[in-house]
Amino acid sequence: MPQFNEKLSEIYEEVLKRNAGEGEFHQAVHEVLESLGPVLAKRPEFVHGKIIQRICEPERQIIFRVPWLDDKGDVQINRGFRVEFNSSLGPYKGGLRFHPSVNLGIIKFLGFEQIFKNSLTGMPIGGGKGGSDFDPKGRSENEIMRFCQSFMTELYRHLGEYTDVPAGDIGVGGREIGFLFGQYKRITNRYESGVLTGKGLSWGGSLVRTEATGYGCAYFVREMLKTRKDSIEGKTCVVSGSGNVAIYTIEKITELGGTCVACSDSNGVIYDGKGLDLDLIKKIKEVDRGRIAEYAEHHKHAKYIAGGNIWEIPCEVALPSATQNELNGKDARALVKNGCIAVGEGANMPTTPEGVKVFQESGVAYGPSKAANAGGVATSALEMQQNASRDSWSFEFTEQKLEQIMMGIHQACYETSEEYGAPGNYVMGANITGFMKVANAMVAHGLI
Ligand code: NDP
Repeated sequence: MPQFNEKLSEIYEEVLKRNAGEGEFHQAVHEVLESLGPVLAKRPEFVHGKIIQRICEPERQIIFRVPWLDDKGDVQINRGFRVEFNSSLGPYKGGLRFHPSVNLGIIKFLGFEQIFKNSLTGMPIGGGKGGSDFDPKGRSENEIMRFCQSFMTELYRHLGEYTDVPAGDIGVGGREIGFLFGQYKRITNRYESGVLTGKGLSWGGSLVRTEATGYGCAYFVREMLKTRKDSIEGKTCVVSGSGNVAIYTIEKITELGGTCVACSDSNGVIYDGKGLDLDLIKKIKEVDRGRIAEYAEHHKHAKYIAGGNIWEIPCEVALPSATQNELNGKDARALVKNGCIAVGEGANMPTTPEGVKVFQESGVAYGPSKAANAGGVATSALEMQQNASRDSWSFEFTEQKLEQIMMGIHQACYETSEEYGAPGNYVMGANITGFMKVANAMVAHGLI
C-alpha cells in the first residue's frame, strides 16, 4: 500500500483541521491522497498551484432548513445539504440522499468521490452531492411529496442544467425525482428537463438509468475477471442491500451466468441457495416498498437471518451495494477465507480502509466504488445528452453505450495501474486517472 510523503501528510493534516469531525470525508480524502505521491513527483505545477488543497475545498456548500407538515398536521424540520464540490469538467453532478444518518461529512465524502468518478466516465460533468437527514421510512406518499416540495423550494435557486444537476441516491428514486422536478418546474416556470436525472420515461428520463449502476458494476467485475482469464459464469455471488443498485446488480450478474445467493437490508439477510428470485425481490421492494424479510414468507426453502452478517456467507464474488463502511477488516478476512476472488463496489466507499488492505494483500480483484459504480452517473450524463438534443434512445443502444463506458473505465484504470508500477491496483488506477483530468482542467482555468 503506498504511503504519504511529507507534502501529502501536510495537506492531509490541514484537511483534518479544517473539517473537524467529518470522519467519512477524512477517509475519502486519505484514500485518494495515498495514490497521488507519484503524480506530484512528476507534475510540480500541481504542487505549486495547490491543486490538491483546492480540490479538497468545495467550491460552495449550501445548508438549509426544510420545514414541512406531516399527516397529523404537526410541523417537522429537517436539514438540507448541497455540496457543489468541483465544476472544472462540467456542471456539478451527483445524487441526493434522504437518510437519517445524513450530515455534512457524509455529503462531503460523497461529493469528493463524485469528482473523480465523474471524471472517469469521460463525460462533461463536475462533482457534487446533496441530501437531507429526512427519514422516508414509514412516511406516506403525501408526506414524501410535501417534504420534496419544501426541499426544492430552497434548492431550486442553486440548480440549472448548466449549473448543478442532482439525481437519486439512497432514499431518492423515481418517485422523489418526480416530486422534485414538479416543484422546480412550478417555481421557475421552465420545463428544464436537464436539471434533474433519473426522471420518468414519459417526461424526459432515459432508458437504462434505473438499471445503470448495478449493470455497470457487473460489467466492471466481468472486465476485472477477464484480465485474469476468468469470468462471472458459474460463480456464487453475494450482494448486500436490496435497493436500486442491489436489484440491478443481481439482474446483470445472473444474466452473465453468476448465481446470487444472498441480499439484505438494514434489518437482516436473505439466503437462497437456489439463487435469488429477482421477480419476487422487485415486487417486495419496488412495488410494495416492503422489507426483505418477506422473501422467506414466499419461499420456504430460503432463510431469513435477522441481524445477520451477509459477509459470512461463502461466495466467490462479493458486491457490497448498501452503504458506506458496511464491510470491515474482519468481514474481508472472512470473505477471503471462504474463497472470495473478486469484489465490485456498487455502494459508495462500502469497504473500510482495513478491509481494502485485506483484499489487496490477498490478491482479490478489488474494484473500488468510484470506478465500479460509475455507470449510474454515466447514464445520467447520457440522459442529459438526450434531453439536450430532444431525443430518446432505445434500451439496447443506451445499454451498449453504458457497457462501452464501463469497459473504457476499466481499461483506463488498469493501464494507469500498470503505468505507475502496480498492475491490477484499481484504487491507484482510478484515483490517478480521475485526478489527472480534473487537475489539468483546474490548471487551465487559472486560480479560481
Ligand atoms: P436504495 O435506497 O435504493 O437502497 C439502499 C439499500 O441499502 C437498502 O436495501 C437499504 O436497506 C440498505 N441500507 C441503506 N443504508 C443502510 C445502512 N446504514 N445499513 C444497512 N443497510 C443500509 O439506495 P441505492 O441502491 O440507490 O444506493 C445504495 C448505494 O449505492 C449507496 O451507497 C449509494 O450511494 C450508491 N450508489 C447509488 C447510485 C444510484 O444510481 N442509485 C449510483 C452510485 C452509487 P434499508 O431499506 O433497511 O435502509
